[in-house]
Parts: sequence; C-alpha cells; structure tokens
Amino acid sequence: MAIKNRRKNAQKAVSQLSSIILNYNNNDLEIIDSAARQLISVGKRHGVRAQSNVTKLICRDCKKSLIPAKTARIRIKSGHITTSCTRCNRVYRSRLRG
Ligand SMILES: [Zn+2]
Repeated sequence: MAIKNRRKNAQKAVSQLSSIILNYNNNDLEIIDSAARQLISVGKRHGVRAQSNVTKLICRDCKKSLIPAKTARIRIKSGHITTSCTRCNRVYRSRLRG
C-alpha cells in the first residue's frame, strides 16, 4: 500500500516537474534546471519516466535543461537537426523527417 502511494507521489512529482520544464518560456532558468535535476532523480529512484517531449529538453550529460535559444544551440544540416548543450557542449543529432 505504502509503495503504491510512493509511486503515485512520484508520478505526481514527475508531471509537475515536467510542466515546469515545458513552460520554459515562463520560468527562470534556475527553476527549470532544478526541475530537470529533480526529474532525473525521481525517475531513477522510482522508475517513473517523463514523456519524451520533456526528456529531450534535458541534457543527459550535465543533467541541466536543454532549452532552444537559451541553453541549446540548434542547427539544421543536411537532413539532420543538431542540438548542442551550451553548458557541457554535448551534441545531439536527430534526423529530420520528410
Ligand atoms: Zn549538457
């Protein structure tokens, strides 16, 4: 019973943290970064994953937010989108559709 509740709380935390990150235009970078960090730690501890539209806004290396035009540099080059983290310089590449 207690375990079930803990998981439920974790899911609630994940959805709250997710909405902070998704509303990055309305929140301070410091708040977004701390939400990103908490989201990763809650996810690890409870096995609750955020949705992919949220996780792609978090750098897997420095565990900070990856916000277009703020903390991420985005380039489109020969059918690929290149996103680089401005803080640890990690580069993510994804294929453009169509
Ligand atoms: Zn990074």
